[in-house]
This record gives sequence, structure tokens and C-alpha cells, in this order.
Amino acid sequence: MYFKDIIGQAEIKRQLIQTAHTGNIAHAQLFCEPEGAGGFALALAYARYLNCDNRTAEDSCGNCPSCLKYDGLVHPDLHFVFPMVASKEKKKDVCDDYLPEWRNFLQEHTYFNLNTWLSSIEADNKQAIIYAKESDEILRKLSLKAQEATYRVLFVWLPEKMNDACANKLLKLIEEPPHNTLFFLVSEAPEQIISTIQSRAQRINIRGIAPEDMMQNLTTRLGLTYDDAQNVAHIANGNYIKAAETISLSEENMLFLEMFKSMMRNSWSRNVKGMKSSADQFATIGRERQKNFFNYTQRLIRENFMYRFQSPELNYMNIEEAQFSSKFAPFVNERNVFELMEELEKAERHVSQNVNSKMVFFDLSLRITVLLKR
Ligand SMILES: [Zn+2]
Repeated sequence: MYFKDIIGQAEIKRQLIQTAHTGNIAHAQLFCEPEGAGGFALALAYARYLNCDNRTAEDSCGNCPSCLKYDGLVHPDLHFVFPMVASKEKKKDVCDDYLPEWRNFLQEHTYFNLNTWLSSIEADNKQAIIYAKESDEILRKLSLKAQEATYRVLFVWLPEKMNDACANKLLKLIEEPPHNTLFFLVSEAPEQIISTIQSRAQRINIRGIAPEDMMQNLTTRLGLTYDDAQNVAHIANGNYIKAAETISLSEENMLFLEMFKSMMRNSWSRNVKGMKSSADQFATIGRERQKNFFNYTQRLIRENFMYRFQSPELNYMNIEEAQFSSKFAPFVNERNVFELMEELEKAERHVSQNVNSKMVFFDLSLRITVLLKR
């Protein structure tokens, strides 16, 4: 991770670089960021910069022995603590047991959140924390002499997930830090960290990515058109993870949007044959997805209703949905919106109650025909 890899954040970069030149470097720093702003990448680029033997005015050199070890995240004086899921059968007890996965993960992701990390280790929906046991590991590592770096750096990603006993031991270390050791804490919820750590660390507040920086990245690096980039930047609201999600609209959403479009077209044109074949298709997608579909359609109806009389930035649709809405929104109005929502809720309920899904869908299409003509 280099400073150049991080979108925008020019002011923070300038401040961090300045400390490297003055040598005025706080030994405990708490980077606070809203999700998807690049806080971890920024702190990692900073650690690299502090240790680079040949840094320029803007970034690390990329060629010195320290940079090369940072490239592989294998520097002996670079340590990571992060939330994890302990597992007896997988022999995962402390963070270092996940080190190969963690290194791969960081090589592949500049912007990430806890979900991204957990799904990369196939631990979705599990409770991830920094266990009490981790504090012994931290103590053990830091009791050794730093090997070669100008600054040994211990990263704690999401310290708010730290077990209290572990946090208190970390606090002791921060109070009496080993020689040349820096503690970089990167948090999305600093108010949940024990107050004694908060008060002993220098706080660095990172804001969401500025809209103009986000747009610059989306148009030049990802090749989006100006309009698409503007739309994505609005939805993402400074969060690059959200921007990426918006662009690669999930396959399920794509399918649901297509189903929604043909449902509405068939109903509008009273195309009974089309309604029947859509109902057949609907019956094949499985009950869970059928429920998700009705959830999705309720959101779209709501968005389409709001579309006409609110400013565009209040709408939370992706590009494809917004394109469809520019034509469809006039058909959703105060004369039918409540009944449309009721019909969709009812259909969702019937599907949950195992009513024949083909019938539910066909019946719904007929009712929508009537409602759209109002
Ligand atoms: Zn270097």
C-alpha cells in the first residue's frame, strides 16, 4: 500500500508526510474512519513511508529493502491484530494463524470492511472478535527487540472488537511503549473503544472520500461515464465499498430488476400470456428468493413513488434501476401507491405461507394491471 493507492485524502496524507520529516510522530495513533474511506490503507502506507530508506516528498520509494518487505507484508517489524473467528478444527487460535489469509486479503483489497474480511475466510455471519488470548501474543512479540526497522509498527484493525482484558493489556503497552514501537489503531467505531486507550492515542479523523475525488477515480480508473460516476458517487456517499457494490450490481438484483420490468410491462399491456410465462419463471427461483423478490419490488415501488417529487440525491437506486424509473415513475402515484404496496406485501405473505407461488404471481400481475391504469 502506497499513498498513491488511496483515493483523495490529500490533506491527511500531507499531515502524515509532514510528521515523517519533522520526526514528530505520536507512538499511539487512532485512525478513525467512516466505512470505506481507506483508513487502514492510509495507515499502512504511512507505516511504509516512515520506514522507507529512500522516500520522496510524496511517497515511499518502492525499491529499498524495507519497501520490498512491506510489499509482501512480511517485514519482521510489522505486526497485525484483527478480529477473527477462532476454530479448533481449523487450528486457528490467534491472529498469526490467519497470517497467510490476511496477507493475501490485504494484497487484494485496498478498501474493505469486516464483512469483506469474514467472507474471504468463509466466516460470514460468525461473530469475529479480538480474543483475550491475543494480548499474550502481542506482549510476546513486543518484548523482543525490534529487528531492523526504524519504526516497528503494531496494527490493530477495529480495536472496538477487542475483548476488554486484551484492551487493558494493550493499554499498559501504550502507556509504557517498547523502544521505537508505534501502535496504529484503525477504527470505524472509536466511541466503543475503552476511554483510557482513546485518551492516550493521538486521534486522526478521516472523512469519507470527497465526491470530486470519488468521481475522478470512477471516470479515470474504472471508465464510468460522467453521469454514471456522478450517480454512483451520490449513492456511495464517500464509501468506496458501497461504490464498488453499486457498480457490480449483484446478479440477484439484476434478475429481480428484469423480473420486475417484465411484470410491470405485462401488466401495463394486459399481456396475459406474458404474465403466465413470468409466473412460470417465478415458480422456479425458490421460496427464499421469491420472498426477497417481493422485498425488492416494494423498495422499487417506494423509490419510484418518491422519484417525481424529490431531488435525485434522495433516491437510493443504482444506475439500471434509475434508468428504468425515469420511464416508469409516472405510473406510480398517490392513486395507486398504497394499494400496490399492499398487494406486494400480501403476495410476500402468501409465499411465506406456502401458497402456490405460480398462482400468487399470476394473481398479483392481474391486480397490478388494474392499479396501473388508475
Ligand atoms: Zn523504500
